[in-house]
Order: sequence, then structure tokens, then C-alpha cells
Amino acid sequence: MYLKTLHLQQFRNYQQQWVEFLAPKTILVGNNAQGKSNLLEAVELLATLRSHRITRDRDLVREGELISKISATLERQTGITDLSLILRRNGRRTVALNSENIRRQMDFLGILNAVQFSSLDLDLVRGGPDQRRTWLDTLLIQLEPVYAHILQQYNQVLRQRNALLKKIQSSDGHSEELTVWNEQLVSAGIRVIRRRSRAIALLAPVAANWHESISGSTEVLQVKYAPNVVTDNSLDDLQQAFVEKIANRAIAEQHQGTTLVGPHRDEVELTINQTPARAYGSQGQQRTLVLALKLAELKLIEEVVGESPLLLLDDVLAELDLHRQNQLLDAIQDRFQTLITTTHLGSFDAQWLKASQILHVQAGQ
Ligand code: ATP
Ligand code: MG
Repeated sequence: MYLKTLHLQQFRNYQQQWVEFLAPKTILVGNNAQGKSNLLEAVELLATLRSHRITRDRDLVREGELISKISATLERQTGITDLSLILRRNGRRTVALNSENIRRQMDFLGILNAVQFSSLDLDLVRGGPDQRRTWLDTLLIQLEPVYAHILQQYNQVLRQRNALLKKIQSSDGHSEELTVWNEQLVSAGIRVIRRRSRAIALLAPVAANWHESISGSTEVLQVKYAPNVVTDNSLDDLQQAFVEKIANRAIAEQHQGTTLVGPHRDEVELTINQTPARAYGSQGQQRTLVLALKLAELKLIEEVVGESPLLLLDDVLAELDLHRQNQLLDAIQDRFQTLITTTHLGSFDAQWLKASQILHVQAGQ
């Protein structure tokens, strides 16, 4: 797929900016705090309706404005689509395809696909399980847009069940009322677990291959889904295991006033030579791991969706050594439209520069 144009209105530090992408590679160059990452973030929002920066919609709208709009024209094998996302300070959003408003998120997701890779992604290795869950969920949303709906349903059940547990904790509710929420937690939770497990099963071997080729085959990367509810994977087993675990933790849950069982407590384990990557890796090794994960994401989306996603590289090239840079550039070639931010062009080789559209970003222009 190919992003032809992008139009930002009152988004972050942009007042009004129209961009036409004239080459498969675009380099956004500029000093710090000029708007390079903001532009990538706008593309990411169109792809996932999420931003990897922890942020509220009110922060996305340009200071002093109430409303912000991101629009784009995207070319896919199936034709050309106009996408737009309106963000409001009050958090209400409107999405549209070809100028027609779309009611359900899942009908908007999956039109534009993008893989974002920034220095923040090192948190995938270093951060807590929630960061890896968010990463996996964001990938799944692109692989199967219906997952956005499934996740929303699970989170809703979880919120309501937690509210009831809080009431029970303060002797304001009855534990019999839990029965109906337990059933809903299990049925919504199973749908999440199955999809996560399937995605990791597809991703793990691809990531391991990339890791092997980048690191020179001395290190073995394992990506493993470690669900909070453990089974040997058949659906009947999963249901039974889930129900049993809820029963086992019932007293603890009512005591703590929160749900202790379910996919909101899942982990994605990353190990190198069977040692947790967080403990094992040097900074460079952790970068290699994240690079392997990102390349695997690209390939997985390409295979499942049937078109090549965009690649958004935010400040990462300069952080990779020459060997890893080349691995990345070789993998991209001309297959993936790529938007790259940098503070200086010095880290790019001449060939790469010649093939790229170069945009200078300064003060939101
Ligand atoms: P760096 O090289 O440091 O990564 P960058 O060019 O990627 O810089 P961005 O993160 O894109 O920088 O832009 C940051 C700028 O955008 C900051 O000056 C910030 O104050 C401004 N900014 C962020 N949100 C808003 C907003 N809602 N309204 C106005 N300006 C904003
Ligand atoms: Mg930046």
C-alpha cells in the first residue's frame, strides 16, 4: 500500500500542513521539537487509532484549538481510499472513509497498515508486561480489525466485574452477583486469549529468524505467549481452566477487590538463550531484539493482509550500528513505504539519500 498524501489540521504543533509523498522513502529531517515525530504519530493514529506515546486526545489537538483533523489518501491494490480522523479536546472522535462517517472503529481499522519503530520501543524489553500486551494488541488490531471490538468487550466486562468486586470488598455487594460476570469474563476472555496465542505462534518463528540473521546466529530468541490462564490450547480445556482458576482465586479477588484471573494479566515472554531478555541484554542486544520483532511484524502484516504495510522509523537509525542499519535497509528495500525521522542526514548513505524524498521540518511546517 502507498500513502499518497497527508493533511494535518490543528494537529499537535501543526496548524495546517499538506504533504505529498513522492518516493517510497521519505526522510523527515529537522532539529529537536519541530514536529517530525508528530507527523509519524498522525499516520500511526490513522492505522491503529492509537498512539504509542501515552497521550489523551486533548494533547493531540493543537494548543488553543478545540478540534483537529488528520486526513490521508491511500492507494491499495483494491483502489484509492480517503481516510480521515477528527479528534476533539473532549475525547470524542469521528472517523470517515471516502467522506462517509464510520460508526464502528473496526470498519476503519485495517485500511491503512503501519509498523512503528521508535526508541520508545526498547520498553518492549525493559518495561512491564502491560507494555508487551499493548504491543501485541496493537498488532492484532491490524491483523484482524474485529479484535478491537473483542478487546473492548473484554475490558468492559472487566471494568464491571471489578466494580462489583470493589462493592463486595466494602460489604456493599453480594458474591452471588458475580456468577453472571464470571461467565462473561470467561467467554470474552477466551476470544482474546485465542487470538493472542495464534498471533504469537505466527510471529515467533519469523522473529527468531530475523534475530538469528541480525545477531549472527549465536543467540536464540524465543517469543512466547504466557497466558494467565494456562492450558494445552483446546477451547474446551481453556474454558474449564478459566472457570477453575476463577474459583480458586475467588477469596483473594473479593479480598483485593479486583479481578486476578484473565488475559489482562497475560505476559509475552522474550528470552535470549533462555534468559529473560530484560536481564540478559546489553542495550545493543535489546535493540537487536526489538528490531527483529518489528521486522517480524512487517512480514506478518504483509502475509495476513496481503499488502505491504508502511514502516515508520522514528529516530532509530542513528541508534543502530552499521551492520544492523544495513540489515534493516536490506529488509525494507523498496517493498515497504518508509517514513524516517532524523536530526541530521549524515547517518544515511548516498544511495539511500538519492532515492529518498527529503522533507525539512521546522516549527510545525
Ligand atoms: P525530536 O527530534 O526531539 O524527537 P520532533 O521533531 O520529533 O523532535 P515532535 O515530538 O514531533 O518533535 O514535536 C514536538 C513539539 O510539538 C514540541 O515543541 C511540543 O511542544 C509540540 N506539541 C506537542 N503537542 C502539541 C499541541 N497539542 N499543541 C501545540 N504544540 C504541541
Ligand atoms: Mg521526535
